[in-house]
Amino acid sequence: MSRFFTKSLSALQPYTPGEQPQDMQYIKLNTNESPFPPSPRVLEAIDREEVSRLYLYSDPDCRALIGAIAKRFGLEPDQVTVGNGSDEVLWFALRAFCDENTPLAYSDITYGCYSTWCGLLNVPSVLLPLKEDYSVDLSLYQKLDATVMVTNPNAPTGICLSPAQIEDILRANPDHVVIVDEAYVDFGGESCVPLIRRYDNLLVVQTCSKSRSLAGARLGFAMGSAELIADLNRIKFSFNPYNVNRLTCLAGIRAMEDEDYFRLCTRTVAETRDRTAEALKQMDFRLTDSKANFLFAQSSRIPGGELYRKLKEKGILVRHFDKPRLEDRLRITVGSREQMEALLTALRDLGA
Ligand SMILES: *Cc1c(COP(=O)(O)O)cnc(C)c1O
Repeated sequence: MSRFFTKSLSALQPYTPGEQPQDMQYIKLNTNESPFPPSPRVLEAIDREEVSRLYLYSDPDCRALIGAIAKRFGLEPDQVTVGNGSDEVLWFALRAFCDENTPLAYSDITYGCYSTWCGLLNVPSVLLPLKEDYSVDLSLYQKLDATVMVTNPNAPTGICLSPAQIEDILRANPDHVVIVDEAYVDFGGESCVPLIRRYDNLLVVQTCSKSRSLAGARLGFAMGSAELIADLNRIKFSFNPYNVNRLTCLAGIRAMEDEDYFRLCTRTVAETRDRTAEALKQMDFRLTDSKANFLFAQSSRIPGGELYRKLKEKGILVRHFDKPRLEDRLRITVGSREQMEALLTALRDLGA
């Protein structure tokens, strides 16, 4: 830290992203990317001509992209906004709906960025402990005097709440925004988007990073009442009006339009997940009921940190969190069938 760095952020703890090694080829099961390339329509759309237009700014209103997303979800365009990954959209939401006096409430075990952003924005956190089995204790969500973040399915557990359970949270907190982060919902969860019509305090955030194979393009989106979306746009236009670049806009439109490819990819990942989970159970692994594109697994024979290192030596990268209640486990992204076969073989070789 230089002597110029603001004292107000001296305690800031940046988020540690999963490794993206550029040296050797790993079987990468550590950052929940899709094992499939983007839709062929995306590849067709981004040609020399589009690249040559990069001297022009992108449309700050992202009209075509927002139109495509709205159409896909049966919403009006003013009920949708987009950002540079859902990380940015979520950050806009925290900036818009939290402050020193309006904390953010979220699970003690969940996506690590929320606490980092609270640190960056000077927003207090209200941590809601998961139960022993990592399930959500809904009784803690009654009348929270806070903006509420629900990660559904949760990360890194993969455990889902039903829309009816989320509706209980919405009803219990009518005077606060409830943000539902649906980064993984397409792999077996049920989306809350249909509840938007009935709850003006619901903001649903999704991403093209996981289920639409566009992690590197950086595209996320929020859906909610026109008023909530206008609030997010107020932040966006005060920060970076051109937050989604031209090529990503095009990629997002084409990915949204290719429903068949989306279904094929998400269904394949879900099938591979369930098959891998079965195989791991046979090897005495403990697993949560993950509906996401990752498994949250504990070997009965090798501690989490050690297993992570041994797999890395064998060229397989998974995610290990060195934190209470997480240290015994690994978060393993569901890759292709071949990658999961290689993982199971490596685990057997290691005696896990
Ligand atoms: C991956 C992820 C995100 C952010 O994804 P982007 O790539 O920024 O769209 C948000 N929330 C959760 C829970 C995630 O796992």
